[in-house]
Amino acid sequence: MFCVDVAINLPVKNIFKVYTYDVPAEFDYLDEGWRVVVPFARQTVEGFVVRRSAVPQDASVREKLKNVEAVIGDRPWFDKEMLATATWLGEYYMCSLAESMRLFVPGKCSIKRQAIRDANGKLLRYEYEERLKAKTILAYAITEKGREYVKDNFPGMRGYKQKSALQILNSFDDYMASTDLADQGYDSSVMRALSNKGLVNSAQKRILRNSYDRFVAPESNVELTDEQQNAVNKINSAIINKKQETFLLQGITGSGKTEVYLRATAKALEEGKQVLMLVPEIALTAQLVQRFQSWFGKSVAVAHSKLSQNERGDVWYKMRTGNARILIGVRSAVFAPFENLGLIIIDEEHEGSYKQDERPNYHARNVAEKRAELVNCSLILGSATPDITTYYKALKGQYTHLRLTKRPIGNKLPNVEIVDMRDELKAKNFSVLSRSLQSKLVQTVANGEQGIVLLNRRGYSTFVMCRDCGESITCDHCAVALVYHSHGEDMRCHYCGNTHPIPSFCPKCGSRRIKFFGTGTQKAEAELAALPDVKVLRMDQDSTSSKFAHEEILDEFKSGKYNTLIGTQMVAKGHDIPNVTLVGVLAADSVLNLPDYRASERAFSLLTQAAGRAGRGEKAGQVVLQTYDADNEIIKLAAKQDYDTFAKTEIYNRKTFYYPPFGQMLKLTTLDKNQDTAYAIAQKVVLYLQKLVFENKLEPMVISGPFPALVSKVRDLYRYNVLIKAKDMEPVKKALMISEFQTQANLYFDVDPASVI
Ligand code: ADP
Ligand code: ZN
Ligand code: ZN
Repeated sequence: MFCVDVAINLPVKNIFKVYTYDVPAEFDYLDEGWRVVVPFARQTVEGFVVRRSAVPQDASVREKLKNVEAVIGDRPWFDKEMLATATWLGEYYMCSLAESMRLFVPGKCSIKRQAIRDANGKLLRYEYEERLKAKTILAYAITEKGREYVKDNFPGMRGYKQKSALQILNSFDDYMASTDLADQGYDSSVMRALSNKGLVNSAQKRILRNSYDRFVAPESNVELTDEQQNAVNKINSAIINKKQETFLLQGITGSGKTEVYLRATAKALEEGKQVLMLVPEIALTAQLVQRFQSWFGKSVAVAHSKLSQNERGDVWYKMRTGNARILIGVRSAVFAPFENLGLIIIDEEHEGSYKQDERPNYHARNVAEKRAELVNCSLILGSATPDITTYYKALKGQYTHLRLTKRPIGNKLPNVEIVDMRDELKAKNFSVLSRSLQSKLVQTVANGEQGIVLLNRRGYSTFVMCRDCGESITCDHCAVALVYHSHGEDMRCHYCGNTHPIPSFCPKCGSRRIKFFGTGTQKAEAELAALPDVKVLRMDQDSTSSKFAHEEILDEFKSGKYNTLIGTQMVAKGHDIPNVTLVGVLAADSVLNLPDYRASERAFSLLTQAAGRAGRGEKAGQVVLQTYDADNEIIKLAAKQDYDTFAKTEIYNRKTFYYPPFGQMLKLTTLDKNQDTAYAIAQKVVLYLQKLVFENKLEPMVISGPFPALVSKVRDLYRYNVLIKAKDMEPVKKALMISEFQTQANLYFDVDPASVI
């Protein structure tokens, strides 16, 4: 026999070891990738088999080993490729193998323990059950007798239906769901008759859909533009030749990227492959999902973040067994198992939601690239405003650069007006809406068209400040200003959710002159509603907390019941509403002023996306960008949708300061109730790395900090950051992972941080 090395599935960040267990004879099939139940530290937990290992020579050592108690599932969960991806992920993102492996398991942990007791209530043993409840369905399979019967040409059988049902089952070597048989006209009476004759067996089976129907690409009435056709040709040739190639599909908003995804997907399916398509958020990409469903019907499985654990389990099962051919999902879908993956698409690849903001801080694009490399399939990265790093790789020829520079349906890019809000103040307009935006909106709704107003809350929430001493009212637990939502309500902390009543005098100087500053969406909503015939609908985090609220709000808006939609970032993205001809951005400069190296990139992309919402139908669009910084180059370039000029300047800046793609970054964060402790841990890491550089054991690098995080305290924990920039981060990561810091409590590593603040 043999032993197995097991990674323990516990949500603990510092178990980096794998543990060896003895394998009882009944589990002699165990190998890498299986999920098992093992005793661990007086608990019984799930573990992942990382490899088989030899039985220890020393009998006394072996005696001390504990046994694998149970095995979960009827096949290994991880195939070679998934295991390799998990191993890579753990090393790259500085987390344990168990932590990276649990990303691949729906619901993170998959066993439920049940105590089995005897009549006297004495504990006999535990049974383990998979937490995922598979949905089963009545299914039929042909029996040996049935096969003989077909071979002998149905002696004495009359019923035509029974014959053809038997023929279908005879050409199929598995159970077929009763629903699929019924779809073909063989209802339960036919099947029961066959069953009574002993020609078929029935059983409850986990069958989600039969995969015997081959895919045929639907006729499409859209004639591709030359640019689209060229993109499709290049991608399809990589698919046919099974070549691992990464494409940047850079197309302005409305240029028809989806049409390219559809054709590439059809090609992959024709080649018998499966397709994974990642989207930033399902609710915001409902239209795209619908288009896939209209092309590919039931072959499409969708995994959004609100699926229950069981639903997710079913989706994963469909992909693994090949019962579904296309998976459209958010970030976490990048960990789905596949039977035969042949293409990965990442739509809006620049979106921040692809990066997980908690441990392990993986980026789905990186993981997708790794999987594509391991299964040798192509990867399409689509965006109007690519991530600067992606763009740079395309410029360097590392990715194949495909461009869509025109909108296929005659409509031109919208007209953009930049309004200087300082001029509005001079003209005694104190509204948050410029005169131009007001009159354009009134005109738009009078024409029976619709408008979208974007207000980026981040820079513009309503906060409460003392007029005499300038003190703002902050949360006691988190060092951030509290946000005032609407009249008569308490102030709320956006980090911990606590509410506080509005004080009647300043906590610092005692003054009673407390004033509200800034403009939240609710306030802007009220100002819009006051305009003639404007009917406003609001979409922000407060209005979308319920399930599918995004979609419902967008549907309401599309239905025409409202003519104006106001909201935060989420109104800027994805959707395509032909009747929207006006887009207003209330504080175009607010995203620019964040102290972060990617602020310009984010602002440019947000403004471009927002502007891209206007004029997507037959009618021309207009955009109003309101700003206090009308000369700002980035705003001007976004107005022109001139990504390339923007990217050129941005790449130059990044090069000057060794930001990615010219250097790699690692952010360390320490958290502690005690401020000095948080600082001291951070400082200790800095000294450790500096010493290694001094001893020539590491290349020189830039180490900044420790400095307090932008929000220096959250839920009573003080936060310090250290930011490391290095040409090659791998040796730095290794040095940290062989040190005491690997398992240091309260210390977190964020590789390729999305932001440095
Ligand atoms: P993107 O994803 O690049 O923003 P979409 O794929 O949503 O753009 O396409 C924008 C609109 O153009 C859609 O309504 C789509 O049906 C239409 N479209 C795309 N390609 C063509 C084409 N070749 N001919 C006509 N219409 C097209
Ligand atoms: Zn005061
Ligand atoms: Zn708080």
